[in-house]
Amino acid sequence: MVIFHPVKGKTRFAPSPTGYLHEGHLLSALYVWASARKWNLDVHLRIEDHDQERARPQHVQAIYEDLEWLGFTWQSESVQSRHFDRFQKKLEDLQEKKLVYPCYCSRKELDAENPKNEFGEIIYQGKCFLGARDFSLPHNLRVHIPDKVIRWQDLRLGIFEENPKLQCGDFPIRDRIGQWTYQFAVCVDDIEEGITHIIRGEDIRNSTARQIALMELMGRETPPKYLHHPLIVDDSGKKLSKREKAHSIRQDREAGISPQELLGRVLFKAGIRGVPSPIDLDEALDLICLIF
Ligand SMILES: [Zn+2]
Repeated sequence: MVIFHPVKGKTRFAPSPTGYLHEGHLLSALYVWASARKWNLDVHLRIEDHDQERARPQHVQAIYEDLEWLGFTWQSESVQSRHFDRFQKKLEDLQEKKLVYPCYCSRKELDAENPKNEFGEIIYQGKCFLGARDFSLPHNLRVHIPDKVIRWQDLRLGIFEENPKLQCGDFPIRDRIGQWTYQFAVCVDDIEEGITHIIRGEDIRNSTARQIALMELMGRETPPKYLHHPLIVDDSGKKLSKREKAHSIRQDREAGISPQELLGRVLFKAGIRGVPSPIDLDEALDLICLIF
């Protein structure tokens, strides 16, 4: 008798160490670990420190400590800044296929010469694709994406059909000072680390079609499955952001709050539970599994 062992999938939690984790990150972590429970996935912890200008070592350390304090466990981990060889190799593969070109446009020119999408991002019209190339001038590198509709399914929100060429146009994969962009780094790592399920906030949903397009150019035929979860908003209706000094988990810990109290508060603020009373991580994950 032949016994089939189902291939186990893998999801990831991928915070940037540009500040301390806050309630928004905690909600995202809860969705990641709940998805892992629901679909029997391994969890990979990736420290997304590709932006070396803003990443700080004390924030990296705090991510591990805060997650452990909350009771989360993971099966593997990686640090993005150690993957720069991997990124370089993928860039060279794309260059060989003539899919990368330098863009010399200044921020001012980009704003003046290109239309904007509903999120306020420019839709790059490809000015530098046909222009003369002089790599000695300051430039970023853009990937030349195909003009085609990407059909993808969100496990919570349903089917989307989007053409990234019309949504954002060719986008940067390396910036003017030689740093890898979020869009590029995340696609390379999701491929190389074998991520099958991407669970993240709704604020990144508009990146999905362009990431699938880029991953296709890099040779990944089957895209990951996606789930974009609702965000916690502050009193004025804006999403929590560490840049705006959102209340951090670190501050709560220092104030003597327990993990159960914090989890209770986050589930309440996210509208998942009607009362803000303390709750165990295990119970919180079971609760979230019920809502998607
Ligand atoms: Zn340009």
